[in-house]
Amino acid sequence: MAIRTVAVIGAGTMGAGIAQVCAQAGWVTRLYDSFPESLERGMNSIEGFWDKGISLGKTTNEQKEKWMGGLSVAESILAATEGADLVIEAVPEKMSLKQAIFTELESTAPPHSVLATNTSGLEISKIAMATNCPERVIGMHFFNPVPVMPLLEIVRHDGVSPETIEIARAVGEAMGKTTILVGDVPGFATSRLGVVLGNEAIRMLSEGVASATDIDTAMRLGYRHPMGPLELSDMVGLDVRMDILNSLADAFDDESYRPHPLLEELVKNGFLGKKTGRGIYDWSSGEKREVQD
Ligand code: NAD
Repeated sequence: MAIRTVAVIGAGTMGAGIAQVCAQAGWVTRLYDSFPESLERGMNSIEGFWDKGISLGKTTNEQKEKWMGGLSVAESILAATEGADLVIEAVPEKMSLKQAIFTELESTAPPHSVLATNTSGLEISKIAMATNCPERVIGMHFFNPVPVMPLLEIVRHDGVSPETIEIARAVGEAMGKTTILVGDVPGFATSRLGVVLGNEAIRMLSEGVASATDIDTAMRLGYRHPMGPLELSDMVGLDVRMDILNSLADAFDDESYRPHPLLEELVKNGFLGKKTGRGIYDWSSGEKREVQD
């Protein structure tokens, strides 16, 4: 099946990035968010990314105009999914919320469409169970920032059809991503390792093993990670990481996955990472700095 029209549900960090790469792939792309201010922020971030590309000579004005021409906002899920070949959901990491969205998608999106979730670690089969069409439901796990990160983790569950997997692979390739195919185990191949490393780094920070910068430098220079686990946690969003850890603890019935109390405290205080100007680091100046107080 050729993809022509895509609906993206949720216009936050990930949804905006996903809509951007869909528009760049030449598909008619509709972005929906239940909060108008999030939708506006998402559209502004996409335009800002393209404008920066123009100023750096990586993108032309003509390209931007063409991509903008294919991208629009939708006022409802119904309007977003009308005639869509592919729907990608990127709402917060809450099972009940995702299930409710998928139940709605089943009734609004065309019967031929693929229904994908960008969940970081929730079981796809449980999201698929909220529909009567599990064969069309698949995990398409993108990485942040979506236009830059080259990986697409495709997550198969027992009820998905081979055609749906093939479409997901083709979509990833058309976006210029390398795809991997992973089983439907909580946290998949990526998030499970990533959040455990980040949580342990936060534990080490709270124990005074080293400064945030030195813990990150240890992994960058000692293990060749392009970015340290604390900086990465701030980039992803501490709330997002906390949700994943809690869902892993519940799914595996293993308390060792629970978020460290320092992570919980930061989230409770609204220090969610780069997106709020402060997380483990202070980002208020636009640059990464150690928190001073
Ligand atoms: P986010 O909080 O930045 O964005 C979520 C968006 O969903 C918000 O704009 C919110 O207004 C919107 N929303 C909330 N309820 C909605 C509803 N009922 N209908 C439509 N929109 C609704 O979160 P995010 O970081 O973009 O994460 C979204 C999903 O992607 C999560 O499942 C997360 O685990 C996953 N993910 C995140 C990252 C990351 O690095 N942040 C990476 C990979 C996957």
